[in-house]
Amino acid sequence: LDPLWDAGLDVVRKLEAQGYQAYLVGGCVRDRLMGRKLHDIDIATSAKPEEVTRAFARTLPTGIKHGTVTVMENGVPFEVTTFRREGGYSDGRRPDEVAFVGELREDLARRDFTFNAMAFGSDGRVVDPFGGRDALRAGVVQCVGDASERFGEDALRMLRAVRFAAEFGFELLPDVWEAIVCHRAKLSQVAVERVCAEWDKTMAGNGPEQGCHYLFKSGLLGYVKEPLPASVLHAAERYRLNGAGWEWDAWGSGEATGSGVSLPPLPLCGDVDVRWTALLCGIGVSSADAAELFRVLRLGGKRTDRVRSAVGLHERMSGCAEDERYEQWLFGVLDFGAGSAEDWLAATEPADGELAELCRGWMRAIPATAASALDVRGDELAKALGRPAGPWVAELLRALLEAVAFDEIANSKTELLAAAKQWTERADGRA
Ligand code: ATP
Ligand code: MG
Repeated sequence: LDPLWDAGLDVVRKLEAQGYQAYLVGGCVRDRLMGRKLHDIDIATSAKPEEVTRAFARTLPTGIKHGTVTVMENGVPFEVTTFRREGGYSDGRRPDEVAFVGELREDLARRDFTFNAMAFGSDGRVVDPFGGRDALRAGVVQCVGDASERFGEDALRMLRAVRFAAEFGFELLPDVWEAIVCHRAKLSQVAVERVCAEWDKTMAGNGPEQGCHYLFKSGLLGYVKEPLPASVLHAAERYRLNGAGWEWDAWGSGEATGSGVSLPPLPLCGDVDVRWTALLCGIGVSSADAAELFRVLRLGGKRTDRVRSAVGLHERMSGCAEDERYEQWLFGVLDFGAGSAEDWLAATEPADGELAELCRGWMRAIPATAASALDVRGDELAKALGRPAGPWVAELLRALLEAVAFDEIANSKTELLAAAKQWTERADGRA
């Protein structure tokens, strides 16, 4: 029982009461049949946009030229779109019952995958002319019609195929896979924003590893309109040529057996940027290239900084010898901050749980991970030392923080001030 679904059916019935045909369509029908949570409702109707607008008290002209009107009912939006066929939405003639059925079928025929090309009527019947339910039962992504033709029409569908397969844990049917490999160069016709949205959604979904497997293995990434950093493309290429599966071998080096690259296990509990971090660390991308990838994908400054920093910490941890780990980790936590350390731990956990546990323990033992957590403030230092504030304050705080982190002095005002005095006197003596 999903109130959103019932509310959608109410909108359908209101349209029918006015003499129009109307159906729930697309993703919501698929998700309903799969028992997944619904997030929005699309409705297809024979009513023209102006007729839809007239039929409801509150509407928004969200996409009139595509025939879409958003109907607001109890504060919930429903996308109501006039039946469309390939060339546009339906012409003005008043079709009879049979023609209406033909219109619904045409509307469904232009959709991408069979499980996205189903409709649900107020009579409780599923309209499924292309075998969407069979595809759901079989767990496969199947195009409506000829896969090669459909990807040729709209290259974005290749990324959607990958996303749905990953999200549902489905397989791409062989013809779908072959059509992707065949048409992958057409991805360069798709706006980077759309590519980014699909890849990012795939990363955030249920099967980011499977999604990356398809993206890397297909060679699609080599055809993003703006070139991705060379290290990302290189890893994708090595995976495409040699990577067999998910097995992960040598965390840190980005090297797998042979000359291929394996994809790292991606944390499913972490948020999407932790997953990105795990992916980029796992395939051996530098923090600079991670930031460049995020710039190309337009994932925003905040997210870029976060991932750059966590990958930076990884560079440090993977580049050091085992007996330097403790020291590098503590310095890393202080340099990159506790937030980045948490991100890196979450990203590392599935690939190297032992290392993550070790570092987590070390981090828990750090009495202070930021100057702000010290028991002395900059102005107190300046006052106690009788000097005007300047850049030296931040430097001194950092030195005190290191001493506290490495357990050389306690995080108490008296000890901190005493150490500060001692150090400055010593420095003055030397000068
Ligand atoms: P979700 O919203 O869960 O990502 P969805 O299936 O609802 O999945 P939308 O992008 O919201 O995806 O699109 C709604 C419907 O429109 C789809 O179910 C599909 O029928 C159709 N559709 C969307 N994009 C395309 C496309 N590029 N080519 C053909 N049909 C499409
Ligand atoms: Mg949708």
